[in-house]
Amino acid sequence: MSAKAMVFIDGGWLYRNRNTLFAKLGEENFEIDYAKLPRLFCEDVANRLDEDVSLVRTNYFGTIPSARSGFNTSKQYAFYDFLERSCGYETDIHEVEVGTDENWIKMSLSAALLFYAAQPGAYDIAILIGDDPDYGPSLRRARLFGKRIQIVGAHLQDGKEPPASSTLANRLRVSDFPLLYLDDHAAEMRLVRELVKRTCKQCGCEEETTWAGPEFFCSSCRGRYRN
Ligand SMILES: [Zn+2]
Repeated sequence: MSAKAMVFIDGGWLYRNRNTLFAKLGEENFEIDYAKLPRLFCEDVANRLDEDVSLVRTNYFGTIPSARSGFNTSKQYAFYDFLERSCGYETDIHEVEVGTDENWIKMSLSAALLFYAAQPGAYDIAILIGDDPDYGPSLRRARLFGKRIQIVGAHLQDGKEPPASSTLANRLRVSDFPLLYLDDHAAEMRLVRELVKRTCKQCGCEEETTWAGPEFFCSSCRGRYRN
């Protein structure tokens, strides 16, 4: 029987640390392969344990500026929708006033991690993508339920270790494995859009595309649809 892993992503932390991915590859920016991201760290844990690890769920926690803020949030909503529909994430998104801190993310992630820890058979291993010392108390308690914890952190942009005061690393009784680093997988996380031939759902013609969504419409059918 394989061990069950659940991934918990602190969306605020991931957003702040995405620059380490770009820095690692010496690029300004690139698209991140969110479908692949949780699987990469599951594989790392499986290799460390030398047993099968199955990914049961990826839980993503994020915030969005409140409707009153006047920000155009449609792109952000589209991104969260993409995480759910195309990457199989379970998202937990909260409207916040602009400029407020991210306590909501930490509270809801901790609550979910402990809630599932208390559900028999929900997971054996929690993989936390978000190396923030505030998670210490919840991780310690999840471990009291016999759960194993893997923390994923990030190097600074110059490749150095972050200061101990701002990470969970080296804290007692919060994790079962040495820290993994987000940026160690930078190359694999870089989204590569493959050019493939696909058949238009409308007219049946074939066209080369990088679109990987479930339904494909050729460029002329897309143009007609828009008008
Ligand atoms: Zn067509």
